[in-house]
Amino acid sequence: MRNPDIQGKEYQQGTLTGYETREFLLEKWDRQCAYCGIKDVPLQIEHIHPRAQGGSNSITNLTLSCSKCNTKKGTKDIKEFLKKEPLRLERILKQAKRPLADAAAVNTTRFALLEVLKATGLPVETGSGGLTKFNRNQQNLEKTHWLDAACVGKSTPILNIEGVKPLLITANGHGTRQLCRTDKFGIPNRHCSRTKFHFGFQTGDIVKAVVTTGKKIGEYIGRIAVRSTGSFNISTSNGLIQGISYKYCKSIHKKDGYSYA
Ligand SMILES: [Zn+2]
Repeated sequence: MRNPDIQGKEYQQGTLTGYETREFLLEKWDRQCAYCGIKDVPLQIEHIHPRAQGGSNSITNLTLSCSKCNTKKGTKDIKEFLKKEPLRLERILKQAKRPLADAAAVNTTRFALLEVLKATGLPVETGSGGLTKFNRNQQNLEKTHWLDAACVGKSTPILNIEGVKPLLITANGHGTRQLCRTDKFGIPNRHCSRTKFHFGFQTGDIVKAVVTTGKKIGEYIGRIAVRSTGSFNISTSNGLIQGISYKYCKSIHKKDGYSYA
């Protein structure tokens, strides 16, 4: 941010400048008014030492303020404006000058990473938080993780998301190697089977069970917990169904350590 040359012209002069500066300041100043601490209101970019008195446009001279404080401060210098609040004054001045150590470390690492990626010969492009937000706002998209991910980079196309639902994948691991389960005091009280597979199924498989006889007639789809007896539990979206025989189960998805929603 201090040497914006590295980012190219469009970031310095184009529509993106404001976005990058704002995002940076929001992070740096904890998304609140520096003068009164109010949150969740529109914040304006504020010159700590006013332009009228020779204050610079440098990012180290900028902070965020609510409209009330901004009006109150006017063209006053911060030292005069906060003369009755020396602690806050000191904190703001310190924060403003805080060396951008974290940013510097990230910068160094990412440029090294970029060089390595370019060396692969594959097409590589870079993006930024500001560019992502800009792309997302251009298309009036909602702020969600998956849409943000789709808006990274200059090559972001027009996204047609009608009817698109993200697939949520969670890593669940492959279970445990415990040979017994314990009670809350750590005393072993339940035996664990040494074989994971029973009747071709293992805990974590997703199955469809069509039960045609007995009390549990119906169709159930869900994740199973197997037992060596062949009587399985199925956790469906409507709750846990216990004691379903393996005979009724058909595998839909073999357990791979992930869950999908
Ligand atoms: Zn304020």
